[in-house]
Amino acid sequence: MIFCPQPYRFVSNAMPITRFGQNNDDAKAHPSHVFRPRKQPDAKPHFRPKAVFRPVTPFVYPLQFRSTREAERAAHAMGIETVNFQDDLAAATYIVNGLRRFYDAGYPSFRAIIPSNAIPNGSPAEVSGDTLRYNPGYDWANIQGHQRGMFDAGLISSGHPYAIIDHEMGHLLENMQRAKRRHFATWLSRQTLTGETTHPLRCDALSPQEVDLLSANVSRYAISQADGSEVVPEIFCGLMGGKSYSEAVMNLYQSYGGILNPNPV
Ligand SMILES: [Zn+2]
Repeated sequence: MIFCPQPYRFVSNAMPITRFGQNNDDAKAHPSHVFRPRKQPDAKPHFRPKAVFRPVTPFVYPLQFRSTREAERAAHAMGIETVNFQDDLAAATYIVNGLRRFYDAGYPSFRAIIPSNAIPNGSPAEVSGDTLRYNPGYDWANIQGHQRGMFDAGLISSGHPYAIIDHEMGHLLENMQRAKRRHFATWLSRQTLTGETTHPLRCDALSPQEVDLLSANVSRYAISQADGSEVVPEIFCGLMGGKSYSEAVMNLYQSYGGILNPNPV
């Protein structure tokens, strides 16, 4: 007996494929079957930031933790494996509540949150790979006031109360995009395929025009690293704060590994 992958009824009762507007009683009776020719996609994908991005849960009711252990349990419940807030309840409260918004929206999260004394003074946190390191010497009790001041001075791209978390999530998501590309490149080389390209994400220096574009439209922090490593986090942070950017800014964002899907999981 020959195996037929499609059951016979799909062949005999094939759905009517009818051009839109053609007089066909069956198509009228079942309008969902009407074939509407799709607009051909543009050669260059057109990006509409407002249509794609919405800020994740713009307001969260912040949890008040009675201890850092309680905050660590909340972080574990979001799938974060290693969490150490020491005794810094202000840091724990800010970080966990900031990340809850992303968790609720279906984003991936960090694998670990740990303290690091190596972070420069005045900087609250940094990301390496999928680990969030926070500065135990930072003034976490007043972080929302500090970040508001930085936004008003044009240093950071968002005045959202959790802008610092939005920025660090931008680093995590960019790192994940880069890891994905590397994985794909390795897979391709194992297949010994020829003529394939993996379109690696760029990591070359920003041009003077790009520096001008970012400083005029995003933030001063976005141009703080010549290799563009603060571009994606700052634009992502602005998007999460409810901003939309021009196509030129969004193309730059994508070229460095910025994600476009607001719910990437
Ligand atoms: Zn950064």
